[in-house]
Amino acid sequence: MSKEPNRRSLLRQAYSGSLLERAAALRSDEAKLAELHKHGRAGVYVVGGELIVLKAQMFKAQGAAPDPLFSPDEARTLGAARETVFLGLLDDAPRFGIGIDAAAIEALKAREDLALVDLRTIAVQGEVDTAHVPPLAEAKAILGWHARHRFCPNCSAATVPTQAGWRRDCPTCKAEHFPRTDPVVIMLPIAGDRCVLGRSPRFPQTMWSCLAGFCEPGESIEEAVRREVAEEVGLACAQVRYFASQPWPFPSSLMIGCHAEAVSENIVIDESEIEDARWFDRAELKLMLLRQHPQQLTTPPPIAIAHHIIRDFAEHGRDVLVR
Ligand SMILES: [Zn+2]
Repeated sequence: MSKEPNRRSLLRQAYSGSLLERAAALRSDEAKLAELHKHGRAGVYVVGGELIVLKAQMFKAQGAAPDPLFSPDEARTLGAARETVFLGLLDDAPRFGIGIDAAAIEALKAREDLALVDLRTIAVQGEVDTAHVPPLAEAKAILGWHARHRFCPNCSAATVPTQAGWRRDCPTCKAEHFPRTDPVVIMLPIAGDRCVLGRSPRFPQTMWSCLAGFCEPGESIEEAVRREVAEEVGLACAQVRYFASQPWPFPSSLMIGCHAEAVSENIVIDESEIEDARWFDRAELKLMLLRQHPQQLTTPPPIAIAHHIIRDFAEHGRDVLVR
């Protein structure tokens, strides 16, 4: 783990760094939760699938940022809640996430006082106050889990939400189901002053990024890094060093950022996974980060942990492996 927590915490990536206290002890306190639902400063984030509901036009007219926070009464007018989740407390004021269904979302698209925007766009455009982005990520991830886990994987009976939205119980076989987070390793193989970046066919034309892939069952983070690098670009890696992590609620990943010491040189691309990969030296990375590359090549934007993994190597070289 990092020896420099302060520098790591200064990353400007999206979705992490929530100001909410999750107050997990309250999730089983029915009386307190009922009180919190009536709290005068209660705030609600409203999510429909991939889209977040924002108060838009009237605020834009006043020059203010679009606001994703509704009062419980306002939220009720937007559509029937499929699920309500207690997200936590901000200065003792409760925050909830409400999931509404696709039909309700369709009806809201016609409203001029609202905007329906996906969470990537919200993070990239930066129009919404950044303090809202981590709790929106929390709300989207857990509400998405509810939407995909309505039936028990043991016995296929319908499951019932409990614990203020943090568990689903099966009334038939009594199994308790908890929200899942899927670990993904995202890494930069490096050797001396050079590193390997790759391109997925779904990237914008000029963008190059870190390699990434899901951890498999029975695998450590280090093993997953070495396997993914070997599979995607055919390189062997020795030492693996953890950098930082980022929740990535599309739908429920945790990106685990690492630097890895490449000990072979010949790139062999797995074309089923990536379109291209090659070695870049630090001087070229710096031009890409500054958006001054002669071929207009770029790194991902600062909302993504990949940007910070690449920047750290561009600035510190192979010291990223030894500190
Ligand atoms: Zn069951």
